[in-house]
Order: sequence, then C-alpha cells, then structure tokens
Amino acid sequence: MARIIDGKAISAQIRGEIAEKVAAFTAQHGFSPSLTVIIVGEDPASLVYVKNKHKACEQVGIKSDIIRLPADVSETELLSLIDKLNNDKGVNGILVQLPLPKHINEESVICRISPKKDVDAFGYENVGRILTGNFDFLPCTPAGVMELLHRSGISVTGKDCVVIGRSNIVGKPMAALLMHENGTVTVCHSKTADLRSHTSRADILVSSVGKAGFVTADMIKDGAVIIDVGINRLQDGKLTGDVDFEGCFEKASYITPVPGGVGPMTITMLLQNTLTAANKQI
Ligand code: NAP
Repeated sequence: MARIIDGKAISAQIRGEIAEKVAAFTAQHGFSPSLTVIIVGEDPASLVYVKNKHKACEQVGIKSDIIRLPADVSETELLSLIDKLNNDKGVNGILVQLPLPKHINEESVICRISPKKDVDAFGYENVGRILTGNFDFLPCTPAGVMELLHRSGISVTGKDCVVIGRSNIVGKPMAALLMHENGTVTVCHSKTADLRSHTSRADILVSSVGKAGFVTADMIKDGAVIIDVGINRLQDGKLTGDVDFEGCFEKASYITPVPGGVGPMTITMLLQNTLTAANKQI
C-alpha cells in the first residue's frame, strides 16, 4: 500500500516559510515583493486561477495586482503594457494568464516579459537556463513536483523516471529537472510505441496527459512513486487526475492524490518565484 503525498500539507508548510521570508524582506527593504498578473478576456477558468493566485499572494504578504484587458485588446497594446511593467521598479514579477485570444501570439507576449520578472519561467531565456541547469526560476508545476519528492524524502539519483506528456509547461521541464537530479529519464507522448513497456519499469512515474483513468495498476511497477499532474473534470463535476488512484494505491510506494497533490504546489511555487525575483532585483 502506498503512502499518500499530501500536497496540501506540504504546500501549507512551504507557504508558511515563504510568508516568514516575505515579512523579513518587507521589514528590511520597506516594500513588499510584488506580482502583476495580466488577464485578457473573460475565460471563467482563467478568472478563477487569477483570483486564486491573488488570494495566495495576499496570504503570504506579496503585493498582488491584476490588470484586466478586454478580449479584443491588440497584441501591440499588450506588448506595450508589458514594456511598461518591465521598466516599473515597483513590479517584481509579471505573469500573463494563458490561454490568450487567438489573434495574439502567445510566444511573442511571453518572450517580451523581462527574464528577470518572468515568474512562470516560460520565456526563451528561462527555458534555456532550465536546460543548462543555471536557473533562477523554474516553471511552477514541475518545480512543485520536485518539492513534493524532496519533502517526502524521495531521491531521484539512479532512478528510472518516466514522464508521460511533453508539453512546454509540464513534460519537457519536468524531464530536465529529473535529469538534473541524476534520474534516467524517458519522455513518452501520444506517438510512443508500447507505452506500457516504459511505464512498467519506472521507479518514478509522472503523468501529465489530461485523461482520466489513463494510468492503471497493470501499467506500473511494484513500489513505484506515482506523481499525477493531470487535472480532469468528470461528468458529475468532480476533479480527478490521470491515474486510477484506487488501483495504483495498492501497488505504489508513494502516490499523489487529485485534488490535493500537485495542484496546490503550483501556486506555491509562483509565490516562491516572485520572492526570488524580488531578491534578485535588489
Ligand atoms: P498538453 O499540452 O495537452 O499535453 C498533454 C501531453 O500528453 C502531450 O504531450 C501528449 O502527447 C500526451 N498524450 C496525449 N495522449 C497520450 C497518449 N495516449 N499516450 C501518451 N501520451 C499522450 O497538456 P499539459 O498542459 O501538459 O497538461 C497535462 C495535464 O496536466 C492536464 O490535465 C492539465 O490540466 C494538467 N496540469 C496540471 C497542473 C497542476 O497544477 N497540477 C498544471 C498544468 C497542467 P503529444 O505531444 O504527442 O500530443
């Protein structure tokens, strides 16, 4: 039977540590670290994410501003707003909530954010730094997974690590971080032949596919560490991950639940990145 990695508890612990560091920063410098989030349009899920980020910032003492722009804002206007924030000494972190409307090129927008303020770490410079191992910021979800492993006493060195999913925000940086910690990493995707042959030898399996019930007990190794990044909404409205939790729970050594596993760590790592940005800009 697996031990459940309690992302909510670990996240609360880290947020407590961040709040102490933010208080010390504020006392020393006379101002608080600050994050500005830009949201374009009225996508309901994005509005919820932005609200949650704002609340989390307030809880740890980070100053949080939200700039709301209409869905028909031009790319030029958005880029000039980012230029203004890049030059504003009172702004330490900038985040543009994705997705953006179709008429705006996401890559141009993300890469316009100063690398020193790019707290999502999605811009080219930070992506390059992640690959070389010379980084200040890590993308929040993979960074959150690494924290869950560290704080659960799980070492990556020498382990067979399999990541399912190769997105820019989860799968690719996840593979880089596991490699930096001396894991032997395989990245699987929709064109992988014989997925099971890879997953069944994984000591650490990270699933970031976005399909409920995708990873079943017969696909995993006895004693594997199972990290479920997936967030899927079922027809009854409930949230679930990619992993068949009940089945894999019996066979794994550690497992993350959904909700309450990786999810709470993502915003926590954003808070961490904002504090890091503020310290680097002093
Ligand atoms: P994404 O961009 O859609 O990527 C999904 C990946 O899964 C792709 O690389 C895709 O392969 C792969 N895939 C799809 N079907 C597959 C199959 N049959 N076999 C093997 N691989 C398959 O999604 P994402 O942004 O990485 O997010 C993945 C999941 O994580 C979603 O449920 C999302 O909601 C969740 N998520 C959670 C958090 C969090 O805070 N917990 C943060 C971000 C995302 P191809 O590349 O070949 O298409």
